[in-house]
Amino acid sequence: MNHPEAIAFDFDGTLIRGGWDKGVHILISAYTACRECGFSEYVRPEHLERDLLRMARAYMNYMGSPRFQQLSAIVNALLHDVPTAVEDPAQLGLDAVHLERYEGVRQRYNALYSELNDTAARLFWRPYPSAKETLARLAPEFDLYIASGVLQELLDADLDRHGFDRNLFAGIWGSSRTGGMDKGEILVHIRKQGYREVVFCGDSNKDCEYSRRAGVRFFRIRHDASYRELLDSARRREWPPDPEPWEEGPELASFLIEKARRPLRALIEGHPMTAEAISQWINQ
Ligand SMILES: [Mg+2]
Repeated sequence: MNHPEAIAFDFDGTLIRGGWDKGVHILISAYTACRECGFSEYVRPEHLERDLLRMARAYMNYMGSPRFQQLSAIVNALLHDVPTAVEDPAQLGLDAVHLERYEGVRQRYNALYSELNDTAARLFWRPYPSAKETLARLAPEFDLYIASGVLQELLDADLDRHGFDRNLFAGIWGSSRTGGMDKGEILVHIRKQGYREVVFCGDSNKDCEYSRRAGVRFFRIRHDASYRELLDSARRREWPPDPEPWEEGPELASFLIEKARRPLRALIEGHPMTAEAISQWINQ
């Protein structure tokens, strides 16, 4: 602890633009993995529209959460129309055969999701123009952290890829592959170091909820101009009142469904789109 106050940042959608793309990637990866790894009876082509809706609802309950938590919510929604995550796959109500196959679904989903993210990162995702400068201006006065739901090794790779200066941070923490250490736990860990004030900057309603539960302040990043407001608040040590968690809303749901539909139709029809074609389609 070098300063009496700390500011933590979510990564995707907060320091990096393009938060909504990831949701589409999640839907495509989960559906594809189910179809290819022994869960095809749960994703029948004639139910595509219903399944898109169920997946979107499940995802929106877990925006910004670790990827395997998102997967379990989606599978639960596809199987039982229950859009909530489970701690353990055994709670998904699967028979022994499917329970064993679930590991394959997880692996395929994980690989595909990473591939889609890597492609989009290469082609489209960039830091908000003011993000790096804001970090550099805050660092002399606050302890800075990253608290992300992204897997730690991917977070580290992303930071380097986008040229963030690691020396500006007192801690850079992502989630672990086993599922532990979500953003909420990271924030509690930061708070427990005894800061006078901890502010978490995030983009999703889940981030807002994590802050509340961890007992830290929340600052919402919506666009590049949010960074100017952040500097302003930080300079005056006056933070806007914590917003109520908000509904991500029908606009996001239709984006997810519209953008996932075409790649999934192509998959069903036997001519799957490449990761690059999917990325172009989402960002066009
Ligand atoms: Mg985010």
